[in-house]
Amino acid sequence: MGQFTVTFWGVRGSHATPGKDTVKFGGNSTCIEVNAGGNILVFDAGGGIINLGRSLRERHLTPASPDRRESLTVYLFFTHTHHDHTEGLPFFEPAYFGKTVMHMFGPRMLTSDLEDVLAHAMVPPFFPISMEDMGAQKLIQNISERNQVIIAGQDAPPQIINKATDKRPLTSEAVVVGAMKDYNHPRDGVLIYSVEYEGKRVVIATDVEGYIGGDQKLIGFAHGADLLIHDAQYTYEVYADGKYPKQGWGHSTVEMAAEVAQKAQVKQLALTHHDPLDTDRMVDLKELHAQKLFKNTFAAYEGLTVTL
Ligand SMILES: [Zn+2]
Ligand SMILES: [Zn+2]
Repeated sequence: MGQFTVTFWGVRGSHATPGKDTVKFGGNSTCIEVNAGGNILVFDAGGGIINLGRSLRERHLTPASPDRRESLTVYLFFTHTHHDHTEGLPFFEPAYFGKTVMHMFGPRMLTSDLEDVLAHAMVPPFFPISMEDMGAQKLIQNISERNQVIIAGQDAPPQIINKATDKRPLTSEAVVVGAMKDYNHPRDGVLIYSVEYEGKRVVIATDVEGYIGGDQKLIGFAHGADLLIHDAQYTYEVYADGKYPKQGWGHSTVEMAAEVAQKAQVKQLALTHHDPLDTDRMVDLKELHAQKLFKNTFAAYEGLTVTL
């Protein structure tokens, strides 16, 4: 069996939250690394991707590193392009190395291609370096829920197939990334992703807001997953607060996440996209509450690696 791990580099929603009250869970915005058979898949480029970049340099690009590679290939998937999911990209060190190949995938946002949206986020005067000035080879492609991305090692480019008409490769070593469109996040929804490798599967559902009775489409998509990573930004009290309700903001409560996990019969639930107002103590309490609703739950924290 090859390595199949999930590492959380950023678990905070909306914006970074450094400070003494966020040391345990961390203050960086969203970034998740999935290592499947040595292939490095990254989901979102919030502030957490900065530390991931340094780690990749140490692990693979320094002359003394035991796992040194001639070139580094990274598969970067965007759920959507809000700041807390893209703000770390200009500081992702491997993007400046000529020997890095970055395959980037994500949804069209409103009517714009992913490439245009990302390029607009990195343009003077907002940032001194433009995307094209970053030295890495970058291949940026839109994907939708009709597609699956097949990664079969670094020697072959990843393949985007239409899952309704194209056949998946039969090789068990291939990593298969699936996508599901979720409309419940302003203003243009998000893509929820699944990564399947050697018969195991992780589903990443961030920036989603639940429905009464559970998000049925997501429940189907996540069914039987080994790990479901789900937005749980709010407690029910914060979400439904009479004065400052958070309904319609595109994030879930702990209850919504636990309901999807239970109905989808996943093996494990990770809570993520913690509210920037939540101290470590508050995230601890959310975790305890979630465990009463779905026993095998943990609140994700920066630096945590889960083996599937
Ligand atoms: Zn977000
Ligand atoms: Zn968002």
